[in-house]
Amino acid sequence: MFLTVEQLRKDFGSKTVLHDINFTMAEGELLSILGPSGCGKSTLLRCIGGFESLSNGSIKLDGEELSSVPAEDRPVATVFQTYGLFPHMTVLNNIIYGLKFKQVSKKEAIERGRDILKLLELEGYQHKRIQELSGGEQQRVALGRSLIVKPQLLLLDEPLSNLDERLRVSMREEIKKIQQKFNIATIFVTHDQEEAFAIADRIILMESGRISQMGTAEEIYNHPASSFSLAFIGQSN
Ligand code: ADP
Ligand code: MG
Repeated sequence: MFLTVEQLRKDFGSKTVLHDINFTMAEGELLSILGPSGCGKSTLLRCIGGFESLSNGSIKLDGEELSSVPAEDRPVATVFQTYGLFPHMTVLNNIIYGLKFKQVSKKEAIERGRDILKLLELEGYQHKRIQELSGGEQQRVALGRSLIVKPQLLLLDEPLSNLDERLRVSMREEIKKIQQKFNIATIFVTHDQEEAFAIADRIILMESGRISQMGTAEEIYNHPASSFSLAFIGQSN
């Protein structure tokens, strides 16, 4: 398996917020982690990204144990809820920013940046400043900035939650398209059942720091494994 998470536990002080998390992921898969606010989705993503240490367990990516590798050395890119773009910088400079810390010449960085802009259909935007862009365009720039360093795994934490309803629907199609174009294994965290069902190959449903069910949208919908699954999935129907 491409990603293997085993017996992962995370405590904050005496409080356990993730209990015995086990799952695997295939290459190129789009996996959604779905669950209500406070169930531990962001903490799980932060553990995989290297922004939190584990209290127990292991995370292997392509056979390599990640848990002792510092965040900046993991082949993993995270897009946070608030994209963290530099508002005063141009689109192109935002996109190539991450290459500053790699062995890449300025010339090559600019070439790669232009290629990414093309893939994201943002040609003609390179000299614009972030504050001139719409929310959806900023989202695409944030994705571009993550993808330019060629990560093996992309982590998206509620990437659409700052967008209005109409844009959320079109952006989720776009994220799916970009994910397929780059063929990159992606974990998409959301509290929105409809979003997860629309975008994901497979869904992990979380409840209070535990995985309550895993499967395709169809499997979860047709065979909710617990009263929690049933209630949570039923909510927005
Ligand atoms: P979600 O992303 O699903 O809304 P989080 O992963 O943010 O959930 O939070 C899960 C639980 O962990 C919550 O009870 C939250 O208060 C707690 N938590 C998250 N980060 C910390 C922290 N740094 N210190 C203490 N508790 C935390
Ligand atoms: Mg969260």
